[in-house]
Amino acid sequence: MQQSPKELVIVGGGVIGLSTAYYALKEGYDVTVLDRSLPHEGSCSSANAGMIVPSHFTPLAAPGVIGKGLRWLLDKESPFYVRPSLSLQLAHWGWLFCQHANQTHVEAVREVLCKLNLESRRLFQELAREDDFGLQSRGLLMLCQSQKTLDEEAEVAHQARELGLKAELLDAATASKLDPNIEMNIAGAVHFAEDCHLDPARFLASLGKRIEQMGGKIIHNCPIDKITFRDGKVSAVSGSSGTFDARHFVIAGGSWSTDLVRQVGLKLPMQSGKGYSLTLSHPTQLPQLCSILTEAKVAVTPMGNSLRFAGTMEIGGHNTDINPARVRGIVKAAIRYFPNFKISDFDGIEPWVGLRPVSPDGMPYLGKVPSLDNLVVATGHAMMGLSLGPVTGKLVTELLMMRRPSIGLNSLSPSRFS
Ligand SMILES: Cc1cc2nc3c(=O)[nH]c(=O)nc-3n(C[C@H](O)[C@H](O)[C@H](O)COP(=O)(O)OP(=O)(O)OC[C@H]3O[C@@H](n4cnc5c(N)ncnc54)[C@H](O)[C@@H]3O)c2cc1C
Repeated sequence: MQQSPKELVIVGGGVIGLSTAYYALKEGYDVTVLDRSLPHEGSCSSANAGMIVPSHFTPLAAPGVIGKGLRWLLDKESPFYVRPSLSLQLAHWGWLFCQHANQTHVEAVREVLCKLNLESRRLFQELAREDDFGLQSRGLLMLCQSQKTLDEEAEVAHQARELGLKAELLDAATASKLDPNIEMNIAGAVHFAEDCHLDPARFLASLGKRIEQMGGKIIHNCPIDKITFRDGKVSAVSGSSGTFDARHFVIAGGSWSTDLVRQVGLKLPMQSGKGYSLTLSHPTQLPQLCSILTEAKVAVTPMGNSLRFAGTMEIGGHNTDINPARVRGIVKAAIRYFPNFKISDFDGIEPWVGLRPVSPDGMPYLGKVPSLDNLVVATGHAMMGLSLGPVTGKLVTELLMMRRPSIGLNSLSPSRFS
């Protein structure tokens, strides 16, 4: 059978794969998404904190992170952990991370991160006009309990304003006026007005519905373990459910992408960054704004009548075991910042686990594989995958169409560590 020149197969049906499918369909591609999991299972995208974050222009690899991380290693309830392992991949990733945790790197990438997040925010708003998925554009509060943290966040706010973002330093009383629905035990906060939030499961359902309405196919229970390529082109991907050939391919397999692309000779240093979320369906108080409990690194997001607390970054392996001490760390942080909440409010709440795809320099991998004309990689978004979903989908589609990407992608090249 003759292959359509616009036939596209995407491996991975998380927020990156589905966003890519949507924008490619809009450009007339014939799209099939393959995912080895069932809907809402096995992906990092379904129950994350749902924040859209222009305020996150500092990559994970930044000055001070290593010292803080080392101190946290000794605390079982801390928000950061590296699982000890003899893995060479982890050692290489750690070495690259240390190479990038400096001011020069942060300054080199913050403008592009800000641009990507702002464009993605614009696309979220455009998508919300077509189909309401509950996007809330009220901003985000960085809640600080100590004056030292508040001073650090004031400096971030200053940098944000230099990038053209709206960021305002608030004392505790002014922060309370902005979100009177919740009592907060804080020294002050920074309000990032452009940040937004949503329920990620609702957003994914909206994307999935549109993809099907536009004629795209999403095939679940379809693991892919082989990429067939010859003469500079991929001809098919295959696994136990069959072989799928096409003209174009995108790998958007989240944390698991490294193993797949190794077959085509691409080294994609990446670690899984395990995190948890806990969702209270009847919270004692329901804030209107999303917030980050800055010292504790816990994200808090109202989703309809529910309230979600999310946190922890446990580096290493594809393991989804739940560590009760880390979950306890999230709960204890919640009651420290929000005195009307009690530990017992969290009794019986099942933690959700997600594996973030974390690159060592804190930048996504987005681009063509140099030796293969028709293979694009889109992964490594770490803590910003939801936020950067739409812009990633749009940029991947521009690459498929051989257009000059609307945002420079040099710092995101998937071959930058090869
Ligand atoms: C606790 C927590 C809170 C977070 N909060 C936020 C937030 O507020 N804002 C934000 O922007 N980001 C947040 N994130 C990060 C965000 O969730 C991730 O960056 C994002 O979900 C990654 O999306 P993805 O599509 O790359 O990967 P995934 O969502 O993991 O999707 C990859 C998909 O590929 C499939 N797959 C993998 N390998 C194969 C294969 N070989 N064959 C077939 N299918 C395959 C998997 O089954 C999976 O469905 C959070 C993450 C966590 C853990």
